[in-house]
Amino acid sequence: MGLTMTKEGSASLNESRISKENNESSYLTSVFKDNDINFSMSVQINEAEYKMNPHNYSKYVEILQLLATFGSTHSASKLGYINLRGLNATLEPDYASSAAYYLIALKFIKMTPNTKWDTGLILEVVEGLTEVYRFHSNLQRDLLIWDHGIKMMKFVDSVLEDSLFLKDSDLREFRQIKAIRIHIAYCLALTAEAESKNTGDYRKTVDLYRECEQMGNCGLTAADKLVKKAHTKFRLLGSRVPRVQPICTTCNFKASDLKAIWGLLVCPKCQTVACCSRACLKKHLNLH
Ligand SMILES: [Zn+2]
Ligand SMILES: [Zn+2]
Repeated sequence: MGLTMTKEGSASLNESRISKENNESSYLTSVFKDNDINFSMSVQINEAEYKMNPHNYSKYVEILQLLATFGSTHSASKLGYINLRGLNATLEPDYASSAAYYLIALKFIKMTPNTKWDTGLILEVVEGLTEVYRFHSNLQRDLLIWDHGIKMMKFVDSVLEDSLFLKDSDLREFRQIKAIRIHIAYCLALTAEAESKNTGDYRKTVDLYRECEQMGNCGLTAADKLVKKAHTKFRLLGSRVPRVQPICTTCNFKASDLKAIWGLLVCPKCQTVACCSRACLKKHLNLH
């Protein structure tokens, strides 16, 4: 990855880029001059969006970077998106930076009291990060970033799971909360799947995809597609989970070590149960 992050997902990663050009100082001053940094930030963002023409993309990105260093979740999320998709073919996608900005956005969200959470913005961040995880990331290669994101998403999920949070939300917000939780559930299953590739044990992965699937549709396209995908994954990976329990169906002998498990005889008729011996298998076959 072309980008180094501190453990905390520090927002200082753009310092070098910001100090590159001298005229950056004017932006810096204009933000600090104002007592109300938030107000100043929104003015700067409007200005940044207003300047969206091909010659000003880099300026636009620089302003967003500056605002992100001052704690603007919206700007960090936008930078995550810009780095994920590229900007009108003038800026190439940079997935490591995309992940880093989404993590910064999650960190800002985590620092905000949850009574002030903007579910639309959180959904944007979680949607973007899910895309990075699904298509542009690798658990083994990007272990630190991956884990960091999963931990923060689990935190967000635990807050949203709280029914108190749902009490005052309207339908739109309710759908967004559900969509966020679907995305997080999918990322958790994806993480388990990556681990399963090493261990060969897919039980946890299959359970997690099932949980995601069972959350059901929320009416928002991206999340509903994930529910469908989770269903496919559940069926596909389900075949890798041994369905036969290592217990003799006749005498209840439990095979606890590998040698005993290999010694079990799977019923050739139903193929859903095992027996410890030929005698037990014979008794079971008589039941068919
Ligand atoms: Zn038996
Ligand atoms: Zn049988």
